[in-house]
Amino acid sequence: MASRNEEVLREAFMTKRSQNKSPFTPTNWKDRWFVLTPHNLIYYDGDRNSGRKREKGRVDLSKVWAVESVEYSAFQKDLVFQLVYGSTADTESVTLYIAASSAHDHDDWLEHIRSLVGNNTNLAEVFHKGALLRNQWSCCRGPKDAVACTPVTWTRNNNATPGMLCPEVDRSGRPRRYCYDQPSPSPPLNQDNMLPYQVPGVRTAFGPYRKKIVVAIYDYNPTEIGDLPLRKNEEYEVLQDAEENWWRMRNRNGEEGYAPSNYVKEKASLGLQQYDWYLGDATRQRAEFILKREEKEGCFVVRNSTTTTGMYTLSVYSKQPTPQVKHYHIKREGDLYYLSQSIKCRTIPDLIFKHKYNPGGLCTRLRSPPTHGRQPPTTAGISHDKWEIDPNELNLLEELGSGQFGVVRHGKLKCMDVAVKMMKEGTMSEEAFIEEAKVMTQLQHTNLVQLYGVCSRHRPIYIVTEYLRYGSLLLYLRQKEKHLITCSEQLLDMCLQVCEGMAYLEKQRFIHRDLAARNCLVGSQGVIKVGDFGLARYVVDDEYAGSGGAKFPIKWAAPEVLNYMRFSSKSDVWAFGVLMWEVFTCGRMPYGKLRNAEVVDRVQSGQVLERPTYCPETVYELMKLCWTHDVDRRPSFADMRCQIVEIQEA
Ligand code: ADP
Ligand code: MG
Repeated sequence: MASRNEEVLREAFMTKRSQNKSPFTPTNWKDRWFVLTPHNLIYYDGDRNSGRKREKGRVDLSKVWAVESVEYSAFQKDLVFQLVYGSTADTESVTLYIAASSAHDHDDWLEHIRSLVGNNTNLAEVFHKGALLRNQWSCCRGPKDAVACTPVTWTRNNNATPGMLCPEVDRSGRPRRYCYDQPSPSPPLNQDNMLPYQVPGVRTAFGPYRKKIVVAIYDYNPTEIGDLPLRKNEEYEVLQDAEENWWRMRNRNGEEGYAPSNYVKEKASLGLQQYDWYLGDATRQRAEFILKREEKEGCFVVRNSTTTTGMYTLSVYSKQPTPQVKHYHIKREGDLYYLSQSIKCRTIPDLIFKHKYNPGGLCTRLRSPPTHGRQPPTTAGISHDKWEIDPNELNLLEELGSGQFGVVRHGKLKCMDVAVKMMKEGTMSEEAFIEEAKVMTQLQHTNLVQLYGVCSRHRPIYIVTEYLRYGSLLLYLRQKEKHLITCSEQLLDMCLQVCEGMAYLEKQRFIHRDLAARNCLVGSQGVIKVGDFGLARYVVDDEYAGSGGAKFPIKWAAPEVLNYMRFSSKSDVWAFGVLMWEVFTCGRMPYGKLRNAEVVDRVQSGQVLERPTYCPETVYELMKLCWTHDVDRRPSFADMRCQIVEIQEA
C-alpha cells in the first residue's frame, strides 16, 4: 500500500496497457487500482472488492514529461490517456497507456496529474497523439523513431510567476524532445510550421493551463492589517507560495494579502476536505470523543481508515438501544462506495446523502455532523513574517499558573485567546531566545502548543502562545484519575497525540529537551499538545543547567544525557517513555521519592520503572522500548507512532 504519509489525492480502477518491451508478446490490458499521491502514480492488483492490494508498479511524477490524451482509438478502446516518463535520455523513456472508465474520469485524471507535474523541468514540447502499433505511430504513420508529431497544449513561460504554467504554444521552434531515439539532425518543419508526418486536424484536447487556485477550508480572520480574510468554501488565487506557512493570495474582488497556507487546500486535490463531517486522520478515540460529547442521535463523521490507505470509516452516534458510537468501514466495489448492499454510490458525499434519508442497515439514519467537530488549526505565528507583538494589543486576564520561569496568564490578542508567559528576569538568556523564537513560530502542528510571538521590547519579556483551557496534562491526569485510570484506550490516545507532535518535531530536527507531562497541555475535545519545546536551552538557572542541578529533570533523562549531556530526538524518546508511564499512572511521580543520585544509579544499572497497575502489557513493552540504552537501537517517534497505532487496532 501507499505508506500512510503519502496522501491519496485520487484513486480509481482503470485499465492499463501492459508495457511489454518485446514485439513478440501480445499486449494486453489489465484492471488496476490506480492511486495518485503528490509524488507518485501507483498501481495495484487485487480484485475489485478486497481492500488489500499488492503494488504492481509506480511512476515517479518528477520523471514525467508528458501527460496527454490518446486519440484515433488506436487500441479499439476509448478514453485512453498516456504518461510519458523516464530519464532525460530519450532512449529510456516509457509510455504508460491508461483507459479511464468515463469521460469525466479521463479528463479529471489527466488534469489532476498535469497539475502535479506542471513544475517538472523536463516537460516535453511535442508528443505522439496516437500509439505505437506494429512499429508505426497511429497518429502520423511515422516509423518507431519518428519525431513526435503534435505540440503539447501547454508549456512553461519563464516570465510568469515561478512555477506557474501558461497557455503558450510555440509551434515555430524546433522540437527538442522525441518519444524515441531520433536520428539527428531533426527533419525540417514544413510550410505550415507543422511537423513532418502530418496528422489530420485535431481539436486541442486541453485548454490553457490553469493558475494555482485554492479553496478555503476554514474561515480566517486576520489579526494584522494587510492580511487577507478567508471565507470557507471560497476560492482564492495563490500569488506567492515560496514560504511554507503564509501565502500571498487574491480573492474574487481582487483584494490581496497573506493568509495561512494550512487554511486552504488546492482545488484540484480538495477531496473530502470541504465537508464538515470529514475528520481526516482523526483516530477512532477522537471520533468517539467528539460524537459522545454532542450526544445527538445520528450525529456522524467520516475519517480515514487507520488500517487501509485510501479507505474510509463512518462513525455514528446512536442512543438506541444504549448510547454508543458505531464504526462502519465504507466498502467499495469497482468505482462504487457502499455501507450496505442496498445503497451504492459513486462518491462518498452521495452515499452520505442517501443514508440521511434511509438508514439502509446502519444503526440509525445519518443526521448531522458535530457542531464542534473540525476545529480550525493554529496559524504559524500571528501573521506573515511577524513575531514581535505589541503589548498594547494584549489584554491580560486571569492567572493560569506559575512555573519555573514565572507567572502564566490568560489573555486576549485582539479576539484570540492566548496564554502569556511573563518571564522572570534573569531566568533565561533572552537575546538568544528572541532570535530562536522567530524559528519557533514557524513550527505548526495540531499537537504542539503554538508559539505566536514575543513582546521583547520591555522587561519582563512575554512569550505569547496558544491558550489551552484545561491546562497542564499532569494536573489534568491527577484530577481525573478516578475516571481515567481504567480507560487505557483514552490514555493511549493521549500518548499517541504527544507522539504525533514529537514526530513532527523530530522531522523538523528540533529537540525538545524537557518532554514531560508537566510540559504538555490539554485543550477542548481531548486534544493534547506538547509545549515548552526547546526552551530548556535558554534557562540560565544553575540549579537547572547541568544534570547535577537540583531542578534538572533527571527522572526523564536518558543515560547519554546523564553521562554526556548528549541531547537528541532519541533522548526525547526516552523522556516520552517516562511520560507514557506518567499517563498510565495518572500523574504519579516517576521513581517515587527516590533522590536524584539514586535514580541515576538505577537507570545506569538498567533497572526500569515498573508496569503501572492498569497498564496493558503491550503498552508497557512500548515504554521499555523507549528505555533502550543503545541510542541507535532506540525507536524514533515515527516508529513509536506506528507501534501505538498497531496496539489501538488490535
Ligand atoms: P512549568 O514550569 O510547570 O512547565 P509553565 O510556566 O510552563 O510551568 O506553566 C505553568 C502553568 O501555567 C501550567 O502548569 C499550566 O497550568 C498553565 N499554563 C501554561 N501554559 C498554558 C497555556 N498555553 N494554556 C493554558 N494554561 C497554561
Ligand atoms: Mg511548562
